[in-house]
Amino acid sequence: MEASEIQSLIAKSREALTFAYCPYSKFKVGAALLTKEGKVFTGCNVENVSYPLCICAERTAIVKAVSEGYREFKAMAIATELPDTFASPCGACRQVLLEFGSNYDIFLTKPDMTYVKMTPAELLPLGFTPNLLLEPPNQDSS
Ligand SMILES: [Zn+2]
Repeated sequence: MEASEIQSLIAKSREALTFAYCPYSKFKVGAALLTKEGKVFTGCNVENVSYPLCICAERTAIVKAVSEGYREFKAMAIATELPDTFASPCGACRQVLLEFGSNYDIFLTKPDMTYVKMTPAELLPLGFTPNLLLEPPNQDSS
């Protein structure tokens, strides 16, 4: 990806962060997911008073994309307000990122727009993948 394309995706993740619904943790997270077709889906964390029902920004973005017919991803940028730490997805999100490919770009970012680039496979080594199932699913199955 070109530098301008990466900065644009990071900016979209930062904009998505402003929509975070996090009255309990006050921890805002944004994500911007770029599909192979060039479409961007954004997501923010959405908390709930029943804490286990909280949904992360990364999974919000992926669910939005998949529910609109997009399953092939080129990159995701993830943003938080932590000034000194690159935004890092939780374990559940790492598994969901891996579901849609092991080798696309995941940009862990800081508010100053700097980033570290990783892949789902690097974020979740030895992850649980469909080929481990006794009966792998068809590629086109729903
Ligand atoms: Zn998560």
